[in-house]
Amino acid sequence: MSLFPNLFPEMSIRLKLLGAFLVMLAGFVVLAGAAVVLQLVGAQRAALQEAQHVALAVARMSDQPGPAQRDRQSYFDSLGVLFDRDIFLVDGRGTVVAATDRRVIGRPYEVPEIAQAVADGQPRDFIGPDVFDGAPAHQVVVPLPAPEDAAGDHGGDAVVFEYTQVYDTLMAEAKQAAVLTVVATLILAVLGWIMAFRVTHALVRPLAELEGTVALVAAGNHGARLRVRSNDEIGRLASAVNRMAADLQRQHDALQERNAALARSNALLQEGIARQQEAAERIQHLAYNDSLTDLPNRNQFGAMLATAVARAAHQRHPFGLFFLDLDRFKQINDTLGHGAGDALLQEVARRLRHTLREGDAVARLGGDEFVVLVDELRGDRHAEAVALKILQAVARPFAIPGHELRVSASVGISRYGRDGHDGSTLMKRADIAMYQAKAAGKSNFAFYSSAHDDNSIARLQLESRLRCALERQELELHYQPKLDLRSGRIKGMEALLRWPNPELGMVAPQQFIPVAEETGLIVPLGKWALRQACLQNMAWLAQGLAGLTVAVNLSPRQFGDADLLADIVSILHETGMDGRLLELEITESAIMQDAEAGRRLLRSLKSLGVRIAIDDFGTGYSSLSTLKQFPIDTLKIDRSFIADLACDPEDRGLTEAIIQMARTLKLHLVAEGVEQEAQKTFLCERGCDELQGYLFSRPLPAAEFAAFVQRQRGIDRLAAV
Ligand code: C2E
Ligand code: MG
Ligand code: MG
Repeated sequence: MSLFPNLFPEMSIRLKLLGAFLVMLAGFVVLAGAAVVLQLVGAQRAALQEAQHVALAVARMSDQPGPAQRDRQSYFDSLGVLFDRDIFLVDGRGTVVAATDRRVIGRPYEVPEIAQAVADGQPRDFIGPDVFDGAPAHQVVVPLPAPEDAAGDHGGDAVVFEYTQVYDTLMAEAKQAAVLTVVATLILAVLGWIMAFRVTHALVRPLAELEGTVALVAAGNHGARLRVRSNDEIGRLASAVNRMAADLQRQHDALQERNAALARSNALLQEGIARQQEAAERIQHLAYNDSLTDLPNRNQFGAMLATAVARAAHQRHPFGLFFLDLDRFKQINDTLGHGAGDALLQEVARRLRHTLREGDAVARLGGDEFVVLVDELRGDRHAEAVALKILQAVARPFAIPGHELRVSASVGISRYGRDGHDGSTLMKRADIAMYQAKAAGKSNFAFYSSAHDDNSIARLQLESRLRCALERQELELHYQPKLDLRSGRIKGMEALLRWPNPELGMVAPQQFIPVAEETGLIVPLGKWALRQACLQNMAWLAQGLAGLTVAVNLSPRQFGDADLLADIVSILHETGMDGRLLELEITESAIMQDAEAGRRLLRSLKSLGVRIAIDDFGTGYSSLSTLKQFPIDTLKIDRSFIADLACDPEDRGLTEAIIQMARTLKLHLVAEGVEQEAQKTFLCERGCDELQGYLFSRPLPAAEFAAFVQRQRGIDRLAAV
C-alpha cells in the first residue's frame, strides 16, 4: 500500500495542489488564531499574576507584626507612589482601612469574593465594582492571616489590588501583537495563496501542454512539439516526449513510405492480375471462339452439343444439327483475295446469328463450314423451314468492299434420335447430308439418309488417305504416248496420275480425282503433277529424248484457281522447260465456268507458249464456234465416241463432223481411247492428227515410257537406214 494513497483519482492535479495549499493555509490561519488567543490569555494571566504577586507582597508586608495603622497607611502611600495602583486593605468588617489613595479609606467595600478568600485563606481574582466609582474592575484579593486573638463574627483583613490598568496595558499590548499576528497571517495567507496558484500553474501548465501534445501525437499529428521551458523533471519529460514524437514521426514517415511502396506494388500487382485475367479471358475466349467471326468454335460447339445431347436424352427434347458449307467459297477466296473471303465469312456469321432464334447455337468449324444447333426441333417441317431460312439468308447479295457477291450454300441436316444419339455421329451425319445436298445442286439442303452413308464414309476415308499420300509423295505419274499420224512417231505423251496404295491397291483416277476436286486437294495435287511432268520431261530431254510434248490434265477447280498462272510460270522457270513443250488438257465445262476469266487465263498461258487442249470433247454442250472464241490449239475427241466407232454409225457421223469442223477451224485433233486397228484406220483416213490408246500403249511408268520411246525411235532409225 502506498504511503500516500491517491484519495481523489478523478480530481485534477491543479485542484489537488490548490486543495493541499488551502489545507495548509487553513492550518496556518488556525495556528495564527491559536497564537493570538494564547497571547491574549497570556496577557490576562500575566496581569493577574503580577496583581497576585503584588497583592501577596503587600499582604505580607501588611501582615508584619507590630506596624500600626498609621504605618500601614504610610506603607500604602509609598505603594501608591511606587506603583500608581489602587491597592487597599479591607478589614474583616468590609471597610477600607488603608489604601494607596487615602480618599477611599473608611469606605465600605463588601464583595463576596473577599469574604470567600478570607474564609478559605485563598487569594481570588474577580471583576468587581471599583472602590471609587463602582465601575467593574479587575481585582485580586489576598487574605491576610487572621490574628490569634481575633474573635468575633467577621474575618480577618484582606488586601485588594485593583489591577485593571495593568490588565488593560498588558491586554492592549497583547491585542496589538494579535492584530499584528492576524495581519501578518492574512498577508502570508494571501501571498501563500498567490504562491500556490503560481506553483500550481507552473506545474500544471506544462503538464496540460504535455497532455495536449501527447494527445495530438496520439491522434496522428507527429509534428506536434512541446516548448521546453526548464531543465527540471517536467522539462526533461517534455524533451523525452519531443524525442518520442520525432521518433514516431520518423517511424510514421517510414511506414507511410513503405505503405506507399506497398500501395504501388499492390497497384502493380492488381494491374498485373487484371492483365493476366484479361489475357486468361482472351485466351479462354480464343480457345472457345472463332477469331474471325467471334462465333463459338469447334471446341465450344462440342461442349454445347454435349449439353444438348444430355438434355435431349433426359427430357426427350429433340434437336437438329444443320451443317452449312458455302458453295464456291474457295474460288471467291482465290479470285477476290483473303480479305474479301474473310469479310464474306463475317457477314455470313452475322446473318446466321440474326436469322436464328436466341436459343439456337451457331458455330464456325473452320474454313467456310458453319454449324447450327436448333433446339426443340418440331419435326421435319420445322427443320426445312430453318434450312430455307439459312439458305435465303446466305443467298441475299453480299456487299463486300468493291464487290457485290452472290453466294449459295449447301445445308445438311441431322436430327437427334432419328439420325443418331451422340454428338459425333450427328455431326458426321449432318456433314454427309451436306455433301448429299451439294451433290443435288448448289443452294440446297438435305436430311441425312443412311442410303448414302457407306459411300460418304468411304469417300471421307479416301479423302484422308489421299491427303496422306500427297504429303508422303506416294503418288506417281504414268505417261501414255501419243502417236503423230503424219510422221508415225511419238511426239508427246499424256501424264496421268496413279495412286498405288498398300491397302487399296492401284486406285484409279476416276475414284480419287472427284474427291480431290471436291475437297480442293486437287490444287496441290495438280500442281505436284505439273511439276513432276515437267521435271520428267526435262530428265528425258537430258537423256536424249528431245522434243516430247507433255500433256497435263487440269481439273475445273484447278483451272479456277487464282494461283494457277503464277504456279505454271514458276514451274516452267524452276524446271527450265520450254513452255511450248507443255500442253494443258482442260474440259469444256471448266472453261465455261467463268468464260471471261477463262479466256484471260488461256491468253496468258498462250503467251507462255503453252498449248491448250480441250479434253473429252463431245461430252459437253458447248458448240465448236463457242469454243473458238478461246485461244485453243487442240481438240481431244472423247474416247466414248472412239469406242463405238465400229458399231455406232451415229458416233461415226459425229466423229466425222467433229474432225471436219476442227480442220476447218485449224485445230489440232487428237483421238483418245484408240484400241483397235479399225479405229486407227478410220481416224487416219478422216485426217486425225494424233492417236492415243491402248492400241499403241497403256499409260506407262516413266522408265518404261522412256524405253518405249527409245525402242520406237530405234525402229524408226533402222527403218530409215
Ligand atoms: P483423260 O484425261 O481423258 O485421260 C484419258 C483416260 O483414258 C486415262 O484414264 C487413260 O488411261 C484412259 N485410256 C487411254 N487409252 C485408253 C484406251 O485405249 N481404252 C480405254 N478404255 N481407256 C484408255 P485414266 O488414266 O484412268 O484417267 C482418267 C481421268 O482422270 C483422265 O481422263 C483425267 O480426266 C483424269 N486424270 C488423270 N490424271 C490426271 C491429272 O494428273 N490431273 C487431272 N486433273 N486429272 C487427271
Ligand atoms: Mg486427259
Ligand atoms: Mg480424256
